[in-house]
Amino acid sequence: MIADVVLMHNVGRASNGCFHNIERRYHMNIILLGAPGAGKGTQAEVICKTKGIPAISTGNMLREAVANGTEAGLSAKSYMDRGDLVPNETIIAILKERILQDDCKNGFILDGFPRTVPQAEALETMGVNIDKVIEIYVPDEKIVARLSGRRVCEKCGNSYHVDYKPTKVEGVCDACGGKVVIRKDDEPATVLDRLKVYHEKTAPLKDYYAAKGKLVTVEGQEEVADTTKLTLEALEA
Ligand code: ADP
Ligand code: ZN
Repeated sequence: MIADVVLMHNVGRASNGCFHNIERRYHMNIILLGAPGAGKGTQAEVICKTKGIPAISTGNMLREAVANGTEAGLSAKSYMDRGDLVPNETIIAILKERILQDDCKNGFILDGFPRTVPQAEALETMGVNIDKVIEIYVPDEKIVARLSGRRVCEKCGNSYHVDYKPTKVEGVCDACGGKVVIRKDDEPATVLDRLKVYHEKTAPLKDYYAAKGKLVTVEGQEEVADTTKLTLEALEA
């Protein structure tokens, strides 16, 4: 215990006071990449439970900001409703504030960030080291069908699917009892726009992280549990 503190202190001094470098050797900082509806949120939850590190969903954070009527939420809403990305500076500020919180010091799972190369570069500028990037690959044809069955909790953001992951009581969140609804941007026309944005702006991150030797691709399976198995294996790889 004492030895740990001394070690952390020394490492901390060597890292220009950047908090995220202090405990680098104890970290697992993970990014989940994949098209909308590929199942990133579901796998993030599982990793969170098995590894004890927080899952950070920028989509959930933005939806919460919209629901709370904050300034960031008000400016993000129109982008989100039409399936576009919110401006980099808005989301980078939100993400930065989140990962500086105490619960992130032993690592975190990012779901929905970075979504553009400049966002990935912003992580580097912050001094955040990424250990592993897991891409959950699902072909476009399957995405639309999946998203049409997706339901989310208005209150806590938990995600369900009418066929693959139904709530115990229809329309009611298992976790918090909140109302479970269809997300506005899960309507078919908007889903196609989101896929286009994904291929144009987010997919280049695959090359970006592959070049750094950090990318592992997992094929999204029909059964959530099968994807989970592959995802957990990819983490150990
Ligand atoms: P998806 O299911 O499409 O992965 P998310 O729940 O992650 O959706 O995000 C919903 C919306 O929130 C996005 O379509 C986008 O408008 C916005 N958003 C979330 N994360 C980011 C980000 N990193 N950069 C820009 N916009 C984002
Ligand atoms: Zn809920």
